[in-house]
Amino acid sequence: MSTLAEYFNANRYQPKYFIGDRVFGYYNKIPFIGSVGNDTLINPEVGPQISIHLDLPIHLHGEIYSVIIVKHKDIKQYVKEIKMSHDTDKFKHSKRIQKENNVIKKQQKIAKANGVPEHLYEGHRFAKHNAMDCGNPGCPVCSNPRRLWNELTTQEKRQFQDVEIQRMRHSNGLSPK
Ligand SMILES: [Zn+2]
Repeated sequence: MSTLAEYFNANRYQPKYFIGDRVFGYYNKIPFIGSVGNDTLINPEVGPQISIHLDLPIHLHGEIYSVIIVKHKDIKQYVKEIKMSHDTDKFKHSKRIQKENNVIKKQQKIAKANGVPEHLYEGHRFAKHNAMDCGNPGCPVCSNPRRLWNELTTQEKRQFQDVEIQRMRHSNGLSPK
């Protein structure tokens, strides 16, 4: 016992051509190139039929057709699209966009993890600066002090400070303790 879906999958007509397939063939001896609409079986006596959206209209028996219904034998071959010369440029372009989007996504993740409100990192905001800095080159607040003044970072200073020496004094010079 099979389900109806399984039954129809096993028994229905399986198309060879799919929407958008580019094909070449002859219709009443007239050569055509077009895109497949669908490939389906409506009447078993007629057999499977394919609708073709023609690139150029066909003039036949005094009528002009831009869509024709053909049979499998009318289609001779698939049409290979002519490769455009700027194909590699297009590829490079889309790759660059992909790369940029990846960078933005990564920075958005960092912003989110640090509890930054969403309106501050939506859209394209991290295209040119990172999540945890303000984007100004040489900004004294968020730049690395080592890079700006050849100093240790605040965290490093804290780590290396000598806790034995008391530096905190009241204004009169006395120790707070
Ligand atoms: Zn800054």
